[in-house]
Amino acid sequence: RATSENEPMRAYAPSMGQIFLRRFQLVTQFRSALENGQISVHYQPKIALPSRQVIGAESLVRWKHPEFGRVDPDEFIPAVEATGLVDVLTDFVMDKGLERVRRWMDRDLRMSIAVNLSVRTLADEEFPDRVKEALDRHRVPPELLTFELTESGVMADPERALPVLRRLHTMGVVLAVDDFGTGYSSLAYLRQLPVDEVKIDKSFVLGMGTDLGDMAVVRSIVELGHSLGLTVVAEGVEDDAARDQLVGMGCDVAQGYLISRPLSEERFEAWLRARTVQ
Ligand code: C2E
Ligand code: CA
Ligand code: CA
Ligand code: CA
Repeated sequence: RATSENEPMRAYAPSMGQIFLRRFQLVTQFRSALENGQISVHYQPKIALPSRQVIGAESLVRWKHPEFGRVDPDEFIPAVEATGLVDVLTDFVMDKGLERVRRWMDRDLRMSIAVNLSVRTLADEEFPDRVKEALDRHRVPPELLTFELTESGVMADPERALPVLRRLHTMGVVLAVDDFGTGYSSLAYLRQLPVDEVKIDKSFVLGMGTDLGDMAVVRSIVELGHSLGLTVVAEGVEDDAARDQLVGMGCDVAQGYLISRPLSEERFEAWLRARTVQ
């Protein structure tokens, strides 16, 4: 955090040097952290509306750092993204996710897994081959794998991202636009992208109960998404009121603390059993 000249220095504010050092450490320690199990993947369920049936989960990475404690993905992913290592992370998360899908299939559960893609991965023309290889290896059909991409990620380099997206889409993998509504060229570009799903940014869903503007944004994204033939997902669903409003608007899928927080592999499986075997 930068300190302005007329603001007194606070003892706890890390200096620029400390911030830089921490970021440097996160980048240089990332690969070994992956190898020695400090990085894990948590899963947050998604349910269909209005049935509330569990249809899948989003993969969210966690880093338990020996010195810093829990480090949020919002901090280490941008740091790692600047290096080639983010591809290693994507492959790790995809592999774990497909392994889960395979186990569910073996129990006759048809649920999909969503993996977040970084800007870097979208520019990698070999990525679709790795996806194909991973799907084959785990014997998972492509429609049970979803990639979530942000608008800024695609727009960073559309010339390179589009061919990659088209290939993934042709393979039958599901593509979702994440954090929808936060960018500025949303409407115009949504039609040009080979996507199947829009995910309404949680800031609008969280604000829906108290802010009529947020409510209007959510409603119009649901309508826009449906008019383009897309599945509409709301994230950040924290209470019954929000869920009921989304059902009323015709939103297709909900994800958020109301349903469950992101859970470790073991806890997700326990949650699933408790929910389905009753
Ligand atoms: P995201 O893709 O927008 O993920 C949703 C974030 O919202 C997650 O934060 C999740 O824990 C949080 N969330 C879920 N439900 C609720 C709710 O009801 N209320 C509130 N207030 N928050 C909710 P998280 O896990 O800290 O992840 C932050 C971001 O890090 C993700 O945002 C995603 O952009 C990125 N990320 C996480 N895992 C990966 C990954 O494997 N690869 C890449 N490239 N990015 C990842
Ligand atoms: Ca996401
Ligand atoms: Ca999001
Ligand atoms: Ca986000």
